[in-house]
Amino acid sequence: MLRRIISAAAALALAVSISTGCSAQSRDDSRLSIVCTVYPLYDWTSQIVSGAPDTDLTYLMDNGADLHNYQPTADDMMTVSDCDVFIYVGGESDKWVDSALKNARNKDMKVIDLMDVLGSRLREEELKEGMQSTEEEEEDSGNEPEFDEHIWLSLRNAEDCTVAIASILSDADSEHAEIFKNNASAYIDELAALDDDYKELTDSAENRTLIFGDRFPFRYLVDDYGLDYYAAFKGCSSESEASFETVTFLAGKCDELGAEYVFTIDGSDCSIADAVIASTKSKSQKVLTLNSMQSVKAADGKPAPSYIELMTDNLNTLKEALN
Ligand SMILES: [Zn+2]
Repeated sequence: MLRRIISAAAALALAVSISTGCSAQSRDDSRLSIVCTVYPLYDWTSQIVSGAPDTDLTYLMDNGADLHNYQPTADDMMTVSDCDVFIYVGGESDKWVDSALKNARNKDMKVIDLMDVLGSRLREEELKEGMQSTEEEEEDSGNEPEFDEHIWLSLRNAEDCTVAIASILSDADSEHAEIFKNNASAYIDELAALDDDYKELTDSAENRTLIFGDRFPFRYLVDDYGLDYYAAFKGCSSESEASFETVTFLAGKCDELGAEYVFTIDGSDCSIADAVIASTKSKSQKVLTLNSMQSVKAADGKPAPSYIELMTDNLNTLKEALN
């Protein structure tokens, strides 16, 4: 929908420039077009370009496609092909990007791979005790490191990415560099303030272990605040059935730690969390959901909540479990 509005606006701009006798310029020449893949990257960038004129920002996965299952449509490939700045995560699920960029029409495109930007801040997905794993994952462990691509689930990563995005936008559009710089600096202050709230909560937490009856895309979040976790699956494993052993292991951890909550992630049917709870001694744990933001879309005619709002919701959910 957003993309349709943007292209309609571009067509209108073109029509206006023709009718006023100016030479018809292509959209690429007159406006800065930016494409972001997943929602958090889009929302960060929208903060940075806020108030900058002549800027078109596209959220590529705006139909709620899960990052791991996303397949670009022909329309998506065209959008990427013509843009001035392309911003993506650069992980396992972005394999489609290579060919999209190789075939891009705009040969001067600025491209930013945020996992490259984060470098030493990257963390590997861990195969932890009790996890359900595929044979492939077991063979992989000890081989090539598989970095967790859910980089946005760290406010500190978000700060680093904001700096990098502002910088590449300034390269692409030096005229508005001052706006990008000021917006980025104000946004980093907001991110840092929320990071302080997380720090304050987790520093004083009595319970420091989260139990996920689900996939586990939150490696960066627990790492930032020194929390521990157990989960049914490593990262966003393609595995979806948890074995009896995994369920009883997690239930045993709930009993051992006196956990009152079992976590799931957005989009879960809670079946594994429910099975874990049913296998504990008290069977009285409540299910809490943390939002991984890997498939965010606008709903009911309202825009999607911002990254800051979603991370604040996650903080409030953690508050319940940690105190
Ligand atoms: Zn994921």
